[in-house]
Amino acid sequence: MAKKRDLKQKISWELAPAPESTGHINLKDRYDLFINGKWVAPKKKKYFSTINPSNEKKIAEIAYADKSDVDLAVDAARKAYDGVWSKITPSERAKYIYRIARIMQERSRELAVIESLDGGKPIREARDIDIPLASNHFFYNAGWADKLEYAFPAKTAMPLGVAGQIIPWNFPLLMAAWKIAPALAAGNTVVLKPAETTSLTALKLAEIIQEAGLPPGVVNIVTGFGDTGAAIVNHPDINKVAFTGSTGVGKIIQNAISGTAKKATLELGGKSANIIFADAPIDQAIEGIVNGIFFNQGHVCCAGSRLFVQESVSDLVIKKLKERIDTLIVGDPLDKNTDIGAINSKEQLEIIKKYIKIGKEEGAEMYQTSCKIPNKGYFCAPTIFTDVAQSSRIVQEEIFGPVLTIQTFRTIDEVIQKANNTPYGLAAGVWTDKGSRIFNLTTKLRAGVVWANTYNKFDPSSPFGGYKESGFGREGGLHGLSAYVKLV
Ligand code: ADP
Repeated sequence: MAKKRDLKQKISWELAPAPESTGHINLKDRYDLFINGKWVAPKKKKYFSTINPSNEKKIAEIAYADKSDVDLAVDAARKAYDGVWSKITPSERAKYIYRIARIMQERSRELAVIESLDGGKPIREARDIDIPLASNHFFYNAGWADKLEYAFPAKTAMPLGVAGQIIPWNFPLLMAAWKIAPALAAGNTVVLKPAETTSLTALKLAEIIQEAGLPPGVVNIVTGFGDTGAAIVNHPDINKVAFTGSTGVGKIIQNAISGTAKKATLELGGKSANIIFADAPIDQAIEGIVNGIFFNQGHVCCAGSRLFVQESVSDLVIKKLKERIDTLIVGDPLDKNTDIGAINSKEQLEIIKKYIKIGKEEGAEMYQTSCKIPNKGYFCAPTIFTDVAQSSRIVQEEIFGPVLTIQTFRTIDEVIQKANNTPYGLAAGVWTDKGSRIFNLTTKLRAGVVWANTYNKFDPSSPFGGYKESGFGREGGLHGLSAYVKLV
């Protein structure tokens, strides 16, 4: 086995480096806040560094907004809402949103490289998934802007007002698109805060919004940390809060807005089950598992982080999975051969390492690939735990890294019970040849999305969101749009 692994290793690392060039990207040394259509220095003149997690080098300085800066942004959004955005015709709104989508397409190469540099994700993923999907969300929602009467028949869809939107670091530009596109299509204005480790593509989006000629104040982008986010959530003139991030912060936000008239959608953590039945196409399923948890370093809230394999095929699946992950290339996110890039931050790497230690202490059996890992930067080899108990912390708690737990099952009832037995309910995957079994499971798995014979597939027209501690409300599709309107 060891010999076989060495051979595979060698094959992987014999690939010539294929780094994407960075010569075409345009980044400033320092970014201010984007408020009322202009770049504005933060009142307290505070900035923080955003670094490249694959080499720990500083990329740029980012403005740290405090409450007074947020006040300015909300004020600009309110004036733009009252004065322009809620007044212009829906087809005018659509034109602006289409324009954003098209400019994003034109600048997609630059956006992909910056996403990969700032966040650590493989360029392949940024190029093929994040950026095309982000511009597609603008195209999709632009299409609805002048058709709201058909989207919500027999009702009039009214905008809510100013939306405060707070997003995480795992899909920075895509999350911004998920939130901004439907808000604008429905006639709302926006104050958005990207995550502190990945602000750059949201700031590039601000440039695109300027280029598209959006009226000043319709979209404002304020950068900063948790206190900046809290200032948005607590601002009395915000009508709607849209948050994607950890369950802990989601609970704080839920408490903060209780007793106010603010509407909210919260998309929180997950511990999603990927279930493989004995009759599944095993090789396809192996790719689905790898795609579900190892690509993007497990930095996906709906990552298939708990694998359930039917007992009769468990030895085969585990053997094939180990062989497959031995071939994965961990390294330079900008290299087109890279499968697993850098962990987004030092703090996140520490969390993942802590859980790997907990897994070992809990008595689970660990398998980690022996692939080469760069000396500098934040990297983690793909890791599998078998012999885990349903009550193990590594089975119950979100790790947000390339760490998979594997459990076996015999019957369908048993796997439904085990799959549903976590505080979360964001997504699930089912692999089987039997259509009836898929339909049976989709009604019984308490997860917002259930993929059948595939995993981590997204489309702007499909709603996404969770059950239980994974949050509430849906984003994407008509459901996502409906979160930004009141129907009268
Ligand atoms: P993660 O664990 O994915 O980093 P967080 O929930 O910590 O998720 O962060 C998601 C987003 O929420 C980030 O933009 C972060 O700055 C912001 N944030 C953190 N704390 C708060 C808070 N108390 N109120 C509002 N936003 C917050």
